[in-house]
This record gives sequence, C-alpha cells and structure tokens, in this order.
Amino acid sequence: MAHSDNQYLLLTPGPLTTSRTVREAMLKDWCTWDDEYNLGVVQHIRQQLVQLATCHDGYTSVLMQGSGTASVEATLGSVIPADGRVLVINNGAYGARIAQIAEVLNIPHLNWDLGEVSQPNLDALSQLLSDQPEITHVAMVHCETTTGMLNPLEAVAQRVKAAGKVMILDAMSSFGGIPMDMGELGIDFLISSANKCIQGVPGFGFVIARRALLESCKGQARSLSLDLYDQWHCMEVNQGKWRFTSPTHTVRAFAQALTELAGEGGVSARYQRYHTNQTTLVKGMQKLGFCCLLDETLHSPIITSFYSPESPSYNFKRFYDSLKAKGFVIYPGKVSDADCFRIGNIGDVYPADIERLLTAIEASMYWTAETAEAGEQA
Ligand SMILES: *Cc1c(COP(=O)(O)O)cnc(C)c1O
Repeated sequence: MAHSDNQYLLLTPGPLTTSRTVREAMLKDWCTWDDEYNLGVVQHIRQQLVQLATCHDGYTSVLMQGSGTASVEATLGSVIPADGRVLVINNGAYGARIAQIAEVLNIPHLNWDLGEVSQPNLDALSQLLSDQPEITHVAMVHCETTTGMLNPLEAVAQRVKAAGKVMILDAMSSFGGIPMDMGELGIDFLISSANKCIQGVPGFGFVIARRALLESCKGQARSLSLDLYDQWHCMEVNQGKWRFTSPTHTVRAFAQALTELAGEGGVSARYQRYHTNQTTLVKGMQKLGFCCLLDETLHSPIITSFYSPESPSYNFKRFYDSLKAKGFVIYPGKVSDADCFRIGNIGDVYPADIERLLTAIEASMYWTAETAEAGEQA
C-alpha cells in the first residue's frame, strides 16, 4: 500500500500520488547559481536521465520549465528546420496536440489522423514516407494517455529509421515506467516530464536527444523561452545552469524521485508493479461488470479506459464523489465518441491499493441498486 499521508490517492496520470519523501525534498530553498544545486542536483539528474534512456553513447539531456506540453512544443519548434516537414501519427488527444503545435508554429506537417482506438498500419506508414519524400521528421506518442493505448514503438521506429527520418517520441506517460532503450530503437528525441512515471511533482519536462542532432539545431527555434538548443547549450557550458528561473523545489523533488526509482529496482521493477496494478484492476473491474474501451492487446500498464455503465441513473460526478470520499480520485474520459472514465495505475500506488479501490468501487455502484429498485417498482 502507498505509504501516503495524502487525503486521497490520485489515480490520475499526472500529477500523481507521490511519496512523502519526494514531497519532503521540497522543504528547502535552493540557490540557482550555487554548485550544490547546479552540479550536485541538475547535472546529476541530466546524467541519470540519459542512463535511464539508453546504454548507447552520443545522447544528452535537457530540462525545460513548464508542463510536459512545453517540452513537446520546445522540441517541435527547435528541431525541425524551416525546410523540414513532420508527419504526426495521431491516434488520440496527445497526438492531436502535437499536430496543433505544428499548426500554431507554422511548421509544415501532415496530421495522420487514425481515430482514437486504432494503431498505425506499418505498411501504410512506409508507403506514406516513400510517397512524400519532403517529410523529414516523424512524431508519435508512445502511450496515448487519452485511452491508455500503447503504440507499437519498436515496429514504427524500425520503419521510420528504414526511411531515414528523424524520430520524435512523446514518451510523456511511459518513460521510467516501461523499459526501452532509445539508442537501440533509433529514437532521436524523447520527451517526458517530472510528474509521470518517475513520480516527481509537476513543474518541468525533459528531452533526451541524440547529441549530434541537437547540436545542429542552433538558431532554429521559433520561440525564445522554448529554444531547446539554447537551453541545452546553457546547461552544458555552465554546468547545469538554466537560462531562466529554474523550478528549484520541483527539481529537488525529482532528484529524490530518481533515487527512489533506483531503490525500487529500476524501470523494470516499476514496470512490474504498474503491470500488476493494471491487470489487478482490469480483472476486478470486469468481475464487477465493467468493460474496457480497448482490446486488451492494446492496453498499457499506465492507465485504462472503461465504458461508463449504461444505466440511466449513472452519473460520473456522483460516482467520482463517492470514490473521492472513500480516498480515491479517478479521471473522466477523454475519448470523443465514447462515454468512458479512466483509472491510472502510476505513481506511489501498489496492488494492495488497487484491491482497496475495487472494494470502494463495488460500494459506490449506486446505480445497480437503483436499477433494481426501479425494476421492482415497475
Ligand atoms: C501528460 C502528457 C502530456 C503533457 O501534458 P501536460 O499537461 O502538458 O503536462 C503529453 N503527452 C502525453 C502522452 C501525456 O500523457
């Protein structure tokens, strides 16, 4: 069970339930130009992130203020040259957000909209890339937090590499929770943030990049504060210094979260815990009569979408409030054409918490009792 002293468990994938020790790491103020912070904390985090991402040489990392979207926007806006074009593989709200960023920044792009419940067809992808040689970059979300779908990263990356394109991956909700080696897969830019699977608090995102490619992005950014190259260059030259005010407390909490990830046994151990959380949840929910939105083969260990009960007396807010009063906060659905709710498994959350959640859900199914009553009256 979570050793949490929170009023409730956040079963929402970011912000999520953090450990008390991560939160306690914020009880101190830090100077942003002192070595203790820059060398001791920031540089150490940057090295650890690269080590978590790959065992290959030639990778570097950069931290960026803001929520995860700021890091996605910084990457898109900084790494695609004026004569480039990006293919966006879009099968959910976060894929759509990448296309929207390209739109707002005036980056030539192709929004490959696949709907929200299907995966990219690999041969169609290869065909697209050979039909449109002006495409220079491909962007995809790893785990679509909209539905919980895990995209076929290895197969997609293979096709993108075979076509000689630069691969940008939004691994926001998977990095640190699902084992992968970006060097092995051929991913050039990987984006994630502090408040997802590393289990830190919100405030900044980070990008792990192929160093030689990032070095070639100087002067290309479409924004000053979201210039990925400039931010990286400043951190490199000044040993961990951020260009503008750094979210010091959040960064300290993140350093603690990384220590706790290692203490748990690293990414594979964390993946096992999330996976057990997810399968325990799905099994229990199905027993209670709930159905999953996605086919089980498409599930990720991160978050799961369930169809809302069909009963006319069901109302999400009432269900949500009942669970909140019992100590659990769940997520509304985010799919456009299906009535769903979502439950996340990431954060300082353990299988025993999921068992307690299932008991709370069973006790919150007011609509089944009301349907039975209505049936008796009829
Ligand atoms: C959380 C998340 C983001 C970033 O969202 P923010 O609200 O900006 O932190 C981006 N992509 C995916 C897949 C996510 O899960």
